[in-house]
Amino acid sequence: MTALADDRVLRGHPSVTLKLDAAIAATTFDRPTLVLDLDVVEQNFAALQRGLGDASIHYAVKANPAPQVIERLATLGCHFDAASRGEIELCLSMGARPEHVSFGNTIKRATDIAFAYRAGITHFAADAEEELHKLAEHAPGASVYLRVIVEPNGADWPLTRKFGCAPARVLTLLGVARDLGLDPVGLSFHVGSQTRHATMWSHTLDQVAAVWAQAQDAGFGLSLLNIGGGFPAFHGDAVDPLEAYATDVMAQVRARFGDVAVMAEPGRAMVADAGAIAAEVLLVSRKSDDDLHRWVYLDVGRFSGLAETEGEAIRYQFETARDEDETGPCILAGPSCDSVDVLYEKRPVSLPVSLRAGDRVVIRNCGAYTSSYSSVGFNGFPPLDVMVI
Ligand SMILES: *Cc1c(COP(=O)(O)O)cnc(C)c1O
Repeated sequence: MTALADDRVLRGHPSVTLKLDAAIAATTFDRPTLVLDLDVVEQNFAALQRGLGDASIHYAVKANPAPQVIERLATLGCHFDAASRGEIELCLSMGARPEHVSFGNTIKRATDIAFAYRAGITHFAADAEEELHKLAEHAPGASVYLRVIVEPNGADWPLTRKFGCAPARVLTLLGVARDLGLDPVGLSFHVGSQTRHATMWSHTLDQVAAVWAQAQDAGFGLSLLNIGGGFPAFHGDAVDPLEAYATDVMAQVRARFGDVAVMAEPGRAMVADAGAIAAEVLLVSRKSDDDLHRWVYLDVGRFSGLAETEGEAIRYQFETARDEDETGPCILAGPSCDSVDVLYEKRPVSLPVSLRAGDRVVIRNCGAYTSSYSSVGFNGFPPLDVMVI
């Protein structure tokens, strides 16, 4: 088996790959384009539903806000986790009911809170006293879940420090919320995006369960556990299959929290493998005669969708029409005039030695956190285009 075939087995979606490949092969692109297969989004939602059982699934809109994705998921009965007025309006305009949209950002504009409340949004996240005061003023009586900081668990794209309050502050904030007339219904956390194995959740769940028990002992009567996202997609290293992963996580949740209402906020796992980017090689060069690596410059880079290559955290898979040829190590970079627009240098990427300018490169599993991260046009390079099939 070639390396390529191995990858396809690991991705677990050979038919998907063929369908995306066919759409890409049949199209001439004038700029880097994310090609998205909505049927794969639907399959991923179904797999998560089977694994998560009676938990409610709130798709994290930021992972891919394409209106067609939101519309398809709304039709299937999926709920949504929105971070701003813009995302709320998008969900509502695509048919989501307001009581199915949670406002999960802990850092909200006061006018956005007021808008959400008027629109019928019922559940809001918070992690600070000042945010609770904003909520009490602009969304009186709303249900609030407090985001708790958890220790890093080895996720590929950790989200730990910026959001959440220390476990020791939770009881105080629950009390403040109650005194302000809000309804503090539960706790939330995020294990870190791209947590590759379900076993990596256990320590995090232990931490949250300890805080949960304290809150129950203090009489808060919490009823909602928001387990956030973190469900993985294939980015080069093996991951548990989605349904089995979700089943395992739910078993761990039930063992610690019993029969509480659970919500989950998957982003990446819902959309990543539904999309591939059609890109083009702009230049292949060597910096000196004895340079061991070639530099390969693509028409897509850090500013046009591949932001998660920051720190080389997320490793995308590249395919070309020359993959049967001999390969060699390449430093991969984007096209813009900014020296941080280098995708992989510490761990070079192996690409065919015959690769040259004008060749098409297909980048796999790019449906999450690409189009939404693309700048409006740094250096005059257009943002990542999106084509839905
Ligand atoms: C980004 C985000 C998610 C989605 O995380 P994934 O790792 O993509 O599943 C879920 N919840 C919150 C609050 C987020 O900020």
